[in-house]
Amino acid sequence: MIVAIDGPSGTGKSSTSKAVAARLGLSYLDTGAQYRAMTWWMLANGVDVQDPAAVADASGKPVVTSGTDPLHPQISVDGTDVSGPIRSQEVTAAVSAVSAVPEVRARMVDFQRRTAAAAPAGIVVEGRDIGTTVLPAATVKIFLTASAEVRAARRSGELNGAVSVAATREALIRRDAADSGRTTSPLAKADDAVEVDTSELTLDEVVDRIVALVEQ
Ligand code: C5P
Repeated sequence: MIVAIDGPSGTGKSSTSKAVAARLGLSYLDTGAQYRAMTWWMLANGVDVQDPAAVADASGKPVVTSGTDPLHPQISVDGTDVSGPIRSQEVTAAVSAVSAVPEVRARMVDFQRRTAAAAPAGIVVEGRDIGTTVLPAATVKIFLTASAEVRAARRSGELNGAVSVAATREALIRRDAADSGRTTSPLAKADDAVEVDTSELTLDEVVDRIVALVEQ
């Protein structure tokens, strides 16, 4: 059982994916956290993230590992837990550039496929290209959307209002444009994915809808 949950930022992918995995007794993998961890390491080690050749060269150095328990998601680089630092604004601003480098994606995708294959009961994998590229044979594919206003309000709320809704909205739109416009595995809805617009739905309603699709 493989559930692929893709979509742009701020659509509720992480909360939804963890809750679906917990409800169905499946493992969970946050692929965005992996790209963030790689980006955090590049910034911490002085790699110029705007230089694709430098990023490609350095991409083999950090060892990124992810836990797969939906109740205790965990992400480490070289054995250090980086769950907090990978959510910084610096990482968020640089992650699209790092993720666009094919050498970075090749490493991550390989890890993601091996993790999915090793999950005992199955797995919920969230990201941008899971249904299209990483696991195109997934049992169920979901593409979450929400209006830019709703997504910005949610993200600004997650940051406790530290960044205004207007600034968050601009940053989200910029990141989605970069993620959708890259040449390798852009953010895209798979032809056979079910689109769920979460703008007017509660988290429980979204989870119920996806669990119903899985159990169909
Ligand atoms: O999901 P999250 O917002 O944490 O993802 C951070 C970034 O990681 C995205 O903006 C995108 O650049 C990259 N990403 C990706 N492919 C994935 C998941 C995330 O390129 N499967």
